[in-house]
Formats: sequence, structure tokens, C-alpha cells
Amino acid sequence: MKHLIMAVAVTGLATSLFAAPKRTVVVWSEGTAPKNVYPEDINGAIVEGLKASPLMKDWDVVRASLGDPDQGISDELLKKADVVVWWGHTKHGDVKDELVDKIEKRVKEEGMGFIALHSAHFAKPNKRLMGTPCTFAAYVADNKENEMKVAMPNHPICKGVAKTFTIENDERYSDPYAVPETNEVPLVGVQVHKNGTREDAKMGFCWTIGKGRFFYLQAGHETNPIFFNPEIRKVMANAVLWAAPKK
Ligand code: ZN
Repeated sequence: MKHLIMAVAVTGLATSLFAAPKRTVVVWSEGTAPKNVYPEDINGAIVEGLKASPLMKDWDVVRASLGDPDQGISDELLKKADVVVWWGHTKHGDVKDELVDKIEKRVKEEGMGFIALHSAHFAKPNKRLMGTPCTFAAYVADNKENEMKVAMPNHPICKGVAKTFTIENDERYSDPYAVPETNEVPLVGVQVHKNGTREDAKMGFCWTIGKGRFFYLQAGHETNPIFFNPEIRKVMANAVLWAAPKK
């Protein structure tokens, strides 16, 4: 009996010693999405999707908001974050430069992944990491839908995602996007305007910024429930795994 207890104790110790520590993704938003579409804001919808994904079983999924202490991202949390996901729209200016400095360092020098969504193109950390104006040619609320297409079927961000799928989007962002050039654009789309005009657009962009990986998703306007879409939820989980530093 004594030996059995010893064996169990040793096995338990070995398991705790050798089990890989959980990885961490922080999903941040500013709390301004309409409550009738996003009762728990954008980050709440994304956290719900990530937690439901079998791909994320070894991950801690942390929801962070602008109104939280330390604007949602304490030094301790940032230090352990493998990936930060960011959605903002009207409160970019409220984000402290000091936090942006820390995020930039974590990505460029330490390899943390960063994912920016839709109107976060003008968010401080997005502009800092891109180092460009991050403007689109046009922003017009005449978009009926996006016909999303997988452009790089073997890309990790497209794994298991339907080759084509439709999402509603009230607002179109027109190419070109003023960012560093990249040939790694795994998702594209056709923006169908309310008058029937069709316009090609790049939808998902990848870069390596310093030591870190960076993904931008153009779709994500807050008046439509894009982050509840099952294909977008697959894209988000895939993007977190892709952006995470390789250990
Ligand atoms: Zn928008």
C-alpha cells in the first residue's frame, strides 16, 4: 500500500512538473459596442467564442476592458500574455501611451502576438506596431454584406474555415490600407454595396513585427454580430494560435 501511495504521489508530481503551463490570450475592448448587438461588448462575444473552441483547451482566455484597473492590462497580465486581441473605436485617445509602449516592447522584443480588429486600425497600439498612417481609402456605411473568401487554404488562420461565407457588415473599408506591404493575406472578400456594386477588399492581413506576429481583420463593425459568426469564431481561434510565440 505504501508503495502504491508513493507511486501515485510521484506520478502526480511528474505530471505537475511536466504539464505545459496554460497559455494566455487577453481579449480587450473599450466597452462602446451597442448593447442590443453585444450585451457583453465585443470582448465578451470573442471570449465566449474562444472558450467554446476545442482549439483553446490549453488556454486561459482573459477578458479585459478599458474601464478596468490598469485599463484592463496590468504589467503582470501583459507579462504572461501570449497574445493580445484589441477592438476599439471611439476611445483610442483614452489609452495611455505608457501601456502602448509596454505592448510594443512585448511584441517587438519578446514575441507576443497581437490581433487588431476592424476600427482598431486607428488604435494606438495598432498604429505604433504598423508604423504607418493605417488609413483606408474610404469608409462608407453602404455595405450590405461581405462575401468572405479563404485566399490561402493552407494558411493556419484558414484551417477548418468555410471556403466562402457571408457576413453582414454595415460599413465598408476600401482598399488600399496604408500599412506595411504583405503578401500574407489569407482572407479576402467582396464588399457588396446596398446599390449592388461589388468591390474587392482584403480582409485578413498577417505580418511579423520584430519578434511578434500580427493579424488584422478588416470585418468587425459593431452594429452587426460578426463575432458571433461561427466561421469568424474559427478564424479568431486559429489567429490566436498562429500569433502565439512558438515555444
Ligand atoms: Zn465600423
